[in-house]
Amino acid sequence: MLITATDKGLYCAAGDFYIDPWHPVPRAVLTHAHGDHARWGSAHYFAEASSEGVLRQRLGAQMPLTPKQYGESFELGDAVVSLHSAGHVLGSAQVRVRVGDETWIVTGDYKRAPDPTCKPFEPVICDVLISEATFALPCYRWPDTKDVVNEIWRWWQANREQGRASVLFCYAFGKAQRVLAELLAHTQESVYLHGAVTSLVEEYRRAGVAMLPTQPVVREKKADYKGALVIAPPSAAGTPWMRRFGDASTGFCSGWMRIRGARRRRGYDRGFVLSDHADWPALIDTIKESRAKKVLLTHGYSDALVRYLCEQGIDAAALRTAYGEEE
Ligand SMILES: [Zn+2]
Ligand SMILES: [Zn+2]
Repeated sequence: MLITATDKGLYCAAGDFYIDPWHPVPRAVLTHAHGDHARWGSAHYFAEASSEGVLRQRLGAQMPLTPKQYGESFELGDAVVSLHSAGHVLGSAQVRVRVGDETWIVTGDYKRAPDPTCKPFEPVICDVLISEATFALPCYRWPDTKDVVNEIWRWWQANREQGRASVLFCYAFGKAQRVLAELLAHTQESVYLHGAVTSLVEEYRRAGVAMLPTQPVVREKKADYKGALVIAPPSAAGTPWMRRFGDASTGFCSGWMRIRGARRRRGYDRGFVLSDHADWPALIDTIKESRAKKVLLTHGYSDALVRYLCEQGIDAAALRTAYGEEE
């Protein structure tokens, strides 16, 4: 076993390092800057160069970090390590670990759908694949992104006609920037941002990602937001912060919106099915393209995918990890 699940995280003994550890360790290789993967307190970190800005925002400007480019090989102990694009968020990487003639891949979170805010997913061949399985049920199939963005645009315009603000809840890192980039197909209008989103949008702008112009939400009269689009993290829903928007329409952008009833249970007016994770067909395609002889699964519905792969004659098992929802 080149990589094992320990109580601190996924551990590579040959290289004496951890991948996305959930407790402090001497050496950590990070797949991306979401909170369940990038945790504070390790003595040294390695991560893809374009994730550096967001990582330093989240784990501290002084964090001991060695940035690496996509595809650049580096040695840790007896292991040769390289990072390959995961298509999930800015700077997201799969970790390739080679020891002797054996190659393992840890995907972290990934998606196969196009996203103007990050490099596309790079399929990598390996002997053993450790894949995420957040949405590993056959009911999770994503609609075309352009169609979803069209729906968001029409919802915003319909609310405007009624003199209402549109408050769209998106994960602050990744989803918010993707929506701001995709909406360029429809408008050049400025969008209001919750404070938790602002600095991350600035980080994407520094990385050269084109997005709609934005401005912070400030204490103004309710009327100022009539017809406007506001982007906020899900944690702002139902808080007093929302009052300034008056009778606003609310929407939530997430893969979880694929399931009928999820929108109502979570209390949003509209649900938009937009995910930064692989859907069921993308998970299966990725596993097959990797030509892995063994597949280990983290996150979410790993048991359903393990059963499916075993039925297909692929050696598969679930790994117990501490990964979960993005934030
Ligand atoms: Zn993530
Ligand atoms: Zn994750």
